[in-house]
Amino acid sequence: VEADFVAWLQDQFRPTSLAPLGLMDDAAWIRDPRNASLIITTDMLCEGVHFEVDKTSWERIGRKSLAVNLSDLAAMAAEPQAAFLSLTWPHHYAEHDARRLVQGLLDLAREYNVILAGGDTNRWSGGVVINVTIFGHCSDRGPLTRTGAQVGDMILVTGPLGGSLLGHQFDFTPRVALASYLQREYELHAGMDISDGLSVDLDRLTRASRVGGCLQLDFIPITEAAQEMSRQTGHSALHHALSDGEDFELLLTAPPTEVDRMLGDDQVCQHVFPIGTIISGDGLWFATASGTRERLAIQGYLH
Ligand SMILES: [Mg+2]
Repeated sequence: VEADFVAWLQDQFRPTSLAPLGLMDDAAWIRDPRNASLIITTDMLCEGVHFEVDKTSWERIGRKSLAVNLSDLAAMAAEPQAAFLSLTWPHHYAEHDARRLVQGLLDLAREYNVILAGGDTNRWSGGVVINVTIFGHCSDRGPLTRTGAQVGDMILVTGPLGGSLLGHQFDFTPRVALASYLQREYELHAGMDISDGLSVDLDRLTRASRVGGCLQLDFIPITEAAQEMSRQTGHSALHHALSDGEDFELLLTAPPTEVDRMLGDDQVCQHVFPIGTIISGDGLWFATASGTRERLAIQGYLH
């Protein structure tokens, strides 16, 4: 039902000259000629859906509420500037804990030079609802989007994937500085962040660019946490890397010559993992040992 609702919403918000990207990307590009580089995004976290208060500290929940937004700006290669927090706080929780949540958010904001510029609060009898809206600016090159992947591009990820449930989902590093650097120094064609799982998100990127993707499965970097999950679930660690989600690494495409340069750049080479190629046609595939292609099953976490 939610996928249908989101598709319906996307139909209601057609791209305009003021907001030329529509609702397809990680953030909106507000292309007001007086402020040509404004990038804005918002994300909502709900108790019981995105976090459990008995399993995670309030500070980590607050940190995450900002970090997911920073990751969406990184996905667009935008530099964050100011955030707005709207918090709905239950009557049955102590106000002290709301302060701890906001402190977690503020500590991360300081690390990223983001100010908290406004917001709203409410109390009610339901669970905690945290909405953060953030804005920043893209470079003169404009934002990095999902639509620019070209046949022959390499597909990159910026770090190992999988097993985020074991802690990374709260402690990840939004790739803001890395994205800005890569977009400034290299020719990137398309980008997004991995929130719902590599296979689901790469499928979104290739659809938006009207191309296909072919992965070299043994090139996909896998976290130690994915190995641990594999021991718990019986699924392979690769399965977890492809489908767990909440990795918040970037998924990028760039020409092979640019990727070669990145791999020789001491500033970024440890964050550049080529995992496949953009191909003509559509859908996601993986290369087999015998040199053929097979369809990849798309699995991931859908909110
Ligand atoms: Mg995103």
